[in-house]
Amino acid sequence: MRYVSTRGSAPALDFEGATLAGLASDGGLYVPESWPEFSKQEIAAMRGLSYVDTAVAVMRPFVAGCLDDATLKRLCTTAYGRFSHDAVTPVIQLDQQHWLMELFHGPTLAFKDVALQLLGQLFETFLSKRDAHLTIIGATSGDTGSAAIDGVAGRAKIDIFMLHPAGRVSDVQRRQMTTVFAPNVYNIAIDGSFDDAQAIVKALFNDRDFNGRFTLSAVNSINWARLMAQVVYYFYTAVRLGAPERPVAFSVPTGNFGDVFAGYVAQRMGLPVAKLIVATNVNDILHRALTTGDYSCGTVTATATPSMDIQVSSNFERLLFDLAGRDGKGLAKMMADFESTRAMTIPADMLAGSKDLFVSARIDADGMSDVMRWAHERTDQVIDPHTAIGLAAARNAGLPADVPVVTLATAHPAKFRDAVERATGVRPHLPARMGNLFEREERYDTLPATKEAIAAYVAERATPAA
Ligand SMILES: *Cc1c(COP(=O)(O)O)cnc(C)c1O
Repeated sequence: MRYVSTRGSAPALDFEGATLAGLASDGGLYVPESWPEFSKQEIAAMRGLSYVDTAVAVMRPFVAGCLDDATLKRLCTTAYGRFSHDAVTPVIQLDQQHWLMELFHGPTLAFKDVALQLLGQLFETFLSKRDAHLTIIGATSGDTGSAAIDGVAGRAKIDIFMLHPAGRVSDVQRRQMTTVFAPNVYNIAIDGSFDDAQAIVKALFNDRDFNGRFTLSAVNSINWARLMAQVVYYFYTAVRLGAPERPVAFSVPTGNFGDVFAGYVAQRMGLPVAKLIVATNVNDILHRALTTGDYSCGTVTATATPSMDIQVSSNFERLLFDLAGRDGKGLAKMMADFESTRAMTIPADMLAGSKDLFVSARIDADGMSDVMRWAHERTDQVIDPHTAIGLAAARNAGLPADVPVVTLATAHPAKFRDAVERATGVRPHLPARMGNLFEREERYDTLPATKEAIAAYVAERATPAA
């Protein structure tokens, strides 16, 4: 499989190249040259397969030419062997129509483990064949950082520098990053916001001199391999609930549009997806974009769902690429205008192409708390605030009663226990596998929120490109 950039001018790469590059050199995102499609029979044949075997079946076409089945299976077995539930992503029935897909059984309690455990394995496999050393620089509002660190800690040919906004991630999130003492892990608390951290990372990637000295790579969801790993659980769950004969809807708590884009990919591959519900909090750029075509940045409001507090949804570009008939040069122009004006109006004919599949909803703090209480009182489930945004959107969507609606439970409630306690009165316990997280020593450096300070820190510690 070849990968092309959404902005039409970066060279096409194979799966290995796209995984190691992260972002395309023209500023675009890599997508497969075409969507592989499964027949009804091929989907039906996934019935009864384990998670790992489903993963091999679903990802095989995307890695073709770079990984054989046996290698892919070995990597998946290692990655998903670290999950605490045998089914990896089990589903729970809430009522006649609604289900939860639990994506938080990985090492750091959020769905990002599903992708980043595999990405760590892929990096190691690809680097072992080359004389190369990877320097990962990332910014996190909490979940990506801990999952990425867990995915690459201790790997010889990778260093990871993770920036988080000082004082603005939950205590569980911070400790999951700062108590990892592997020699290749560097945690940096910056005196600034998540947006500041992200801007610094972007500036380092765009700095030709700095970028030329190190082999930089990205672990945020602009990396195609992450999205690919997430396509798997849409198949795994839908098949369990009756696909390919019966269409299934999914409600996805959304920030950067990565998780829900993976659902879109599943649909393009032939999975009967009745609807994809894009659930946002009050930072609703995607809800506005999908309902009225108004894709314009506002300011970010801090909420109880920090992983969805975004200004721009990077992966939305991948959907726009398809909606624009895969005209990369045309999209490059639209994105350049967007980057200078911070606003874009999606043409009505382009938007029309999204209406059959996508619906969206904006859920505020009251809507979130109400559904957390409903879930607790009526279904005996304590859910995290992000999941609650998804479930509220699912319950409001008004889908026909015979369509099962699966809400993606993106984080374990203990990861956001203060917010859960405020809404439900219940303080969720950390799972036993977290061990003595609150007794362990923490290690991180605090730096000013400037590109120069971070660049100097990284340059002193990272391994230069060969
Ligand atoms: C990252 C995250 C999201 C948002 O996912 P996107 O792929 O960025 O849309 C939602 N919930 C939780 C708990 C997350 O960590």
